[in-house]
Amino acid sequence: MDTCLEVRNYILDWGAIPHLAPMIIFGSDGYPNDGTSEGQKAVEHIQTCKKCKLWVRDLTQTEDIVRMERLSRYCCPQMFVAVEEPKQEGLHLKIRQFRDENLWMIDQPGREIGFEFFGFCPWCGNKFPERPFIDDDKGRG
Ligand SMILES: [Zn+2]
Ligand SMILES: [Zn+2]
Repeated sequence: MDTCLEVRNYILDWGAIPHLAPMIIFGSDGYPNDGTSEGQKAVEHIQTCKKCKLWVRDLTQTEDIVRMERLSRYCCPQMFVAVEEPKQEGLHLKIRQFRDENLWMIDQPGREIGFEFFGFCPWCGNKFPERPFIDDDKGRG
């Protein structure tokens, strides 16, 4: 059996497709995988083999791909969620212009004063860019 076929069978047996397909496409070094070195090798093959990458892409919902493409442009997944898919009980971060500066702040509905500004990501510690990660309505939070 050739490697591509072997790898695809392994990935299908794993059962995490299509749930993890977008993460596999945008991941690297064999992550995410099933926790075995065999699994890591299989995923790494997918990530480096053009034909297998296309194969996984075909198993993935288009909206999942679009979401992953956006997510991969953020400093970390938590930040993506906080800006574009804020949960009721979680932080909602947005970027707004004040005078000539763009500032990241917490969205606090009904609260006019006492904004909290952020210079660094509270999850991964990266310095925030001075512009949205993606400059459109969604990306501004
Ligand atoms: Zn392949
Ligand atoms: Zn981050």
